[in-house]
Amino acid sequence: MRCAQVAPYLAAASDELERATARSVREHIDECSACRAEALRYGRIHDSIMAIGAAEPVPPTGLVDAILERTAPAHRRSMIPFVPLPTPELARAISENREAIANTAGVALVAAGAAWALWRGFKAVRRPAPNRA
Ligand SMILES: [Zn+2]
Repeated sequence: MRCAQVAPYLAAASDELERATARSVREHIDECSACRAEALRYGRIHDSIMAIGAAEPVPPTGLVDAILERTAPAHRRSMIPFVPLPTPELARAISENREAIANTAGVALVAAGAAWALWRGFKAVRRPAPNRA
């Protein structure tokens, strides 16, 4: 194998290559110092990336204090009151009993009107008639 044939496989891990391809690349690397150096370079890059991925991130010093300072009471947002949405059960009950609810509302409206008319009539009876002398 020539260097140009091996070059595309130098960055690959040995378990990523088909067995015959990996053997050919390994044989070339054993004999070619330039490709061996390139393969080692890729290996170091691979190891560095794996180390970064495995490292537990450490927050920078002062981060916690900065967060606490920013979330001090003066910076906190107050919650906006909201009207609670009806539960799905309530919405379903309303939609299934729409006619009964309308009838009840109609009866209540008529009763309120009758009560108002009675009250008006009662007030008229109690009020003394205007003098027409
Ligand atoms: Zn080579």
